[in-house]
Amino acid sequence: MARVYNFSAGPSMLPEAVLKTAQAELLDYHGSGMSVMEMSHRSKWFDEIIQNTEASLRRVLNIPDNYKVGFFQGGATQQFAMVPLNFLTTGTADYLVTGNFSKKAAEEAAKFGTARIAASSKDKNFTYIPDVKAIDYDPNASYIHICQNNTIFGTKYVDVPQVDGIPLVADMSSMICSEPVDVSKYGVIYFGVQKNVAPAGMAVAIVREDLLGKSAKGITPAQIPTMMNYTTLLEKDSMYNTPPCWCIYMTGLVMDYLEHEVGGLEEMKRRNEAKAKVLYDYLDSQDFYHNPVQKEYRSLMNVTFTSPDADTDKAFCAAATEAGFVNLKGHRLVGGMRASIYNAMPAEGVDKLVAFMEQFRKEHQ
Ligand code: PMP
Repeated sequence: MARVYNFSAGPSMLPEAVLKTAQAELLDYHGSGMSVMEMSHRSKWFDEIIQNTEASLRRVLNIPDNYKVGFFQGGATQQFAMVPLNFLTTGTADYLVTGNFSKKAAEEAAKFGTARIAASSKDKNFTYIPDVKAIDYDPNASYIHICQNNTIFGTKYVDVPQVDGIPLVADMSSMICSEPVDVSKYGVIYFGVQKNVAPAGMAVAIVREDLLGKSAKGITPAQIPTMMNYTTLLEKDSMYNTPPCWCIYMTGLVMDYLEHEVGGLEEMKRRNEAKAKVLYDYLDSQDFYHNPVQKEYRSLMNVTFTSPDADTDKAFCAAATEAGFVNLKGHRLVGGMRASIYNAMPAEGVDKLVAFMEQFRKEHQ
């Protein structure tokens, strides 16, 4: 068996120990005589799975009791629309545009009301995060929306907006569980699971209870399509209809792993910082590769870099694939390379990538 170092931005690597548990439990889950893929979502086994998954997610992320947790289909992109449908109560919200996904989120919200672009880092091709303390927020905004880690551009927030009485809504798809987060600073946190948490096919939302039961200005809560209504789905504990059972199960395994094998998110953060430092220190130590991001806003998860020209980028990716470092091609919007080094990427994968990069540099500079 030859597993590669997979630097994909998502879906991406899962911890090998988790894959092995899933493999061991595949044919006969805990004496049920069937796999989790085959069992009724109303069975006692699945009931235990979903409850345990939520409980361990709550422990790992330290989620306060006044927040509900839900498992949703439709990915993070569906959350872009669910957020305004449910929470755009004043008809207007402030969006901070720091990349492709926050722009898409704002475009979805604009279908239901005003998505005011309160700040943007487009002027410098999204290589930084605007100073959140210097932004003129709309006092009438229903919420402030951010994308906390920008998967494509490799940036992340240091501080997050905090305005009295205006809930903060954050897309944490590409940084959830990479470090501790103070959930109480947010009204809503949502994330697609396919990077740090599980296989593709699900989003998780963590919603402060007082925000529920409402709707976008101009419609009633009853007019929200049922599958996009947080209140309905959360009241039914994500079991209004058939939930994404396998993703929920895998999320539970990853949470167990984070809690018991890693020892929690402080330790995860320490490991992630150490991994990212190896790569950024190398990028800063030479002048063949270049990372365009302002240093203080560098992502721990997605590290972008270019070589001197597009042809060399191409040659780099081909040689890297050959050497067992796959999915390093940058997003089509920015070109170059991107190493996504999520939780499950071992430190050794980054060390070896840096050694490979140095070898390639010597041969091509
Ligand atoms: N937000 C962020 C930060 C992302 O990285 C992605 C996917 N790469 C999305 C949203 C969209 O997620 P999905 O494909 O699950 O809809």
